[in-house]
Amino acid sequence: MTQKYKEIAPTDMTSEQIIDLCSELAVGFAKRAAKHDREGSFPEENFQELKDHNLLCIMIPKDRGGMGADFLTYTRALEQIAKGDASTGLTFNMHNIAVGSLAELNIDGIGGSRGKKMNDFIDWVYDQAITHKKLFASASSEPGIGAHLSKMKTLYHKTDEGFVINGVKNWVSMAGYADYYVVAAKKADSTSDVPAISYLIVEKENPNARVEFTWDVLGMRGTSTNPVYFEDCFVPKESLFLGNEGMALFKVAREPHWLVGGYVGVYLGICTAAFEFLTNYLKNRNIPGTDKPLASDTRIQHKVGELFVKVESARASVYRAAKLVAERPGSVEANAAIHLSKFMVSELGPSLTSDAIRLCGGSTIAKFMPLERYYRESRCGGLMPATSDECLLYLGKHSFGTDLTKPDETYW
Ligand SMILES: Cc1cc2nc3c(=O)[nH]c(=O)nc-3n(C[C@H](O)[C@H](O)[C@H](O)COP(=O)(O)OP(=O)(O)OC[C@H]3O[C@@H](n4cnc5c(N)ncnc54)[C@H](O)[C@@H]3O)c2cc1C
Repeated sequence: MTQKYKEIAPTDMTSEQIIDLCSELAVGFAKRAAKHDREGSFPEENFQELKDHNLLCIMIPKDRGGMGADFLTYTRALEQIAKGDASTGLTFNMHNIAVGSLAELNIDGIGGSRGKKMNDFIDWVYDQAITHKKLFASASSEPGIGAHLSKMKTLYHKTDEGFVINGVKNWVSMAGYADYYVVAAKKADSTSDVPAISYLIVEKENPNARVEFTWDVLGMRGTSTNPVYFEDCFVPKESLFLGNEGMALFKVAREPHWLVGGYVGVYLGICTAAFEFLTNYLKNRNIPGTDKPLASDTRIQHKVGELFVKVESARASVYRAAKLVAERPGSVEANAAIHLSKFMVSELGPSLTSDAIRLCGGSTIAKFMPLERYYRESRCGGLMPATSDECLLYLGKHSFGTDLTKPDETYW
């Protein structure tokens, strides 16, 4: 345990303490990042530390035994984690897409069997995260479909005892490591206009959920993002997310911040790490043939000033979006801000890291320095939902006043 926080119960942690704790843990994550990147291995030690420090319940409300972070605190904590190791940040976010999204639900007024089912489900998830330190993975994307929920081919059939899932998910981060997969699937006999997409929880040990370890990619190599095959995969009734069928598309259209906004903290973390690397390097390396640091050259200062403006603009956009989500989740302003910040931070990463390599010079493409890894990792941001093009599409429609809470107006 990080000594400073050893005595503090998760429910007593302040926002600043949560962010500081993540920043301290990230120092260790940074030391292991190159190894996991090189080997394409999952950073299990990092997750053990996140578990030891109760961070799997970062978003669970304090009155339910969690840290009670709001979306801004969460985003800033994620930025710190990703600054140390982006793969850990990205996969940690996948867990919180499932757990964190429950925290903001207001189900007080929902009575009867529907309210009971929702409550039972939430109790179960919180207990898994807090007491049993279980990890949840998000299994939505499919081959040839990406994360477009309305086009899903994975189907589920209802039986008297539960559900049977058939399909393949080809981008499941933490596959083989997470304890549960949250699987998006279409109701087989659905006749509704908007496809009935539901989330079902599948245990890692389910004999009909098979992982294929094939992940060998450009960046985010430590995420164990692998295909998982669900073949006549039975899950009991209680596995239905929130006890609700067919609500996924409506939910993601109304409140896209979990499936879109979680990533912004991660990709901001990479930008922050790259900018810090850049300034340190330029202070410590001399202009060839002189004893003056590169940082003393006015052309370099000018260019770094320009990059500073871009990084701080992206940070302001990310924090503003996260604050709007914390205060008014699902509002038109929060949804637009999330897409704006996702676009800004995803596009900034590759250009910032490319400029940083250019400014610092050839030595920085060496594998023993982190810059080339930041370059590769940051390229993945714009591929994840909403992709940069989807963000622009969304923001264009938003500018024309389109009602983007209607699923068929969105890119999903
Ligand atoms: C590091 C990493 C980790 C990931 N982890 C997860 C995870 O844990 N769980 C998960 O579910 N997914 C995960 N994903 C997948 C991710 O969410 C996306 O689904 C995936 O990156 C999209 O893949 P794609 O580009 O092939 O598909 P698509 O989004 O379908 O895009 C394919 C191409 O089609 C274009 N296109 C898309 N729609 C249209 C259209 N209507 N008209 C014209 N062109 C279009 C796109 O611009 C793109 O060029 C991860 C991805 C990465 C990179």
